[in-house]
Amino acid sequence: MVDCEDMGNSFDISLEKLTGLGVPRETGSAGGGASSGRLALGLAGLKPGIYRGETLEGGLRPGAAEDPKSTDLSQFRVNRSVCATQGTFFLETFGCQMNEHDSEKVAGVLLARGYRQVESPDTAAVILYNTCSIREKAAQKIFSRLGEYRFTKKEGQVIGVLGCLAQQEGEEIFERAPWVSLVCGSASYRKLPELIAQLEAGNSRITGLDTDTDETFETEMTRRNNPWRAYVTIIEGCDKACSYCVVPFTRGPERSRASASVLEEVRQLVDLGYTEVLLLGQTVNSYADPSARRMRFSELLAAVAEVPGMRRVRFMTSHPRDFGKDIVEAIEAVSAICDHVHLPVQSGSTAVLRAMARTYTREEYLERIAMLRGAKRRISITTDLIVGFPGETERDFEETLSLMEVAQYDGAFSFKYSPRPNTPSLKMEDAIPEEEKSRRLGILQAGQRDIQVERNARLVGEVFEVLVEGKSRREYQWMGHTSCNRVLNFTSPAKELLGHYVQVRVTGAGPHSLVGEAIHGGGGQ
Ligand code: SAM
Ligand code: SF4
Repeated sequence: MVDCEDMGNSFDISLEKLTGLGVPRETGSAGGGASSGRLALGLAGLKPGIYRGETLEGGLRPGAAEDPKSTDLSQFRVNRSVCATQGTFFLETFGCQMNEHDSEKVAGVLLARGYRQVESPDTAAVILYNTCSIREKAAQKIFSRLGEYRFTKKEGQVIGVLGCLAQQEGEEIFERAPWVSLVCGSASYRKLPELIAQLEAGNSRITGLDTDTDETFETEMTRRNNPWRAYVTIIEGCDKACSYCVVPFTRGPERSRASASVLEEVRQLVDLGYTEVLLLGQTVNSYADPSARRMRFSELLAAVAEVPGMRRVRFMTSHPRDFGKDIVEAIEAVSAICDHVHLPVQSGSTAVLRAMARTYTREEYLERIAMLRGAKRRISITTDLIVGFPGETERDFEETLSLMEVAQYDGAFSFKYSPRPNTPSLKMEDAIPEEEKSRRLGILQAGQRDIQVERNARLVGEVFEVLVEGKSRREYQWMGHTSCNRVLNFTSPAKELLGHYVQVRVTGAGPHSLVGEAIHGGGGQ
């Protein structure tokens, strides 16, 4: 999930909101409703190596069909399991899907060591925040969360900062929030239980801030939060060095996982009941198989999609420089590879792209778009955009608007440029005033909204296969995603559809979602 502060025309945020809870828990949460057959199977059939988390029996609140972004976690009942072990931890995640998935692995590591996950920091011995520092606002939010413990931290409680802010600020965090005792970046998560053990043994402050690892963070056990879509990291870190971005500093250099290890994890996920995976990487398509097989990214995509039982393979985020025809050909050839590509452009002006060190021009990017639009299968395209980069002229901004018109994105995440520590763009001149950034963002988001209204309206009457992920309290109302990653809210008289694939005819469209009716009664499969 992209951090949403500055996000205008969102394309897909509801799924992550639907599935943010952890397991096992000891407090809170109403209900404890029965899981669907499929999910019960997932939990009962627990394999060593992957722990599928508690499942969610969805219920969109009234009105959510019209506004899926308003989906509210409190509306959902959750199945619970409690394991009687000593030591409790609370883990809150900020930021992107990479962070969400890192948290799943961190939780898995701690659960494997006998810790128990709790829902409230008040009842936790160890409180962990997995943080984001991609924009200033995200970092501020975390410091304000940490501030809540200034006077309330209990004797012996461990408060830890993980992730990008930890890596970026390092020991400075101890200065700003002296009640924090652990600071650990993503490249050191493997050592986390040892670091916590040292604190519990009496050390007052511990850091894990190495980035010089060539390992990826593979765990014995992953505690999966999302019952429908499993995240699988295939490449960590980033070597691209975009001039505005902290990721190369906070996540270290690119490290790809061996293809055999990725495929083994996917097979385990299928055994567990998953039919959809999202292959993750900051630049997922820069994947370089370190094993002797030397699989290309497009080959790995096809191999994952061909694992028996796998029905949907997604991947995110693609870097335009490494986006070749072979990826489009794989999507054309293998129907289980979803027809959606997230291809961040950032700016429509070659001059700004050069200043951003994005390594492609406007024209080269538009060639990729033409290639995607010319594919034999219709492919949805979404993007990320930054407005107000230093030196961005009105003309440059207009080029971004015109690129959006040409590209006709199906969704876009748009952000005001945020100056970040250590990045080359921090020293660039001609900063754009905040009000001007806001003005540009407003224009851009309104333009993109119009594009989405028009593009979605064209889908009325079409039939899509939907993986059903949510159930409304209102009778016969369900929600799920299409292969092209659109949210589709639909009606069906069926009693149980969660986790099923259903054919749905689109009857209406808004800028961010579709509505429809299941065809043939929508029994699902
Ligand atoms: N690796 C992906 C790529 O190359 O596009 C993106 C990763 S980044 C976590 C997600 C998005 O945050 C970027 O695509 C960019 O639009 C935005 N972003 C990154 N740094 C930013 C900054 N300093 N200010 C505003 N937006 C930023
Ligand atoms: Fe950041 Fe650029 Fe790497 Fe994406 S490709 S993570 S924007 S440095």
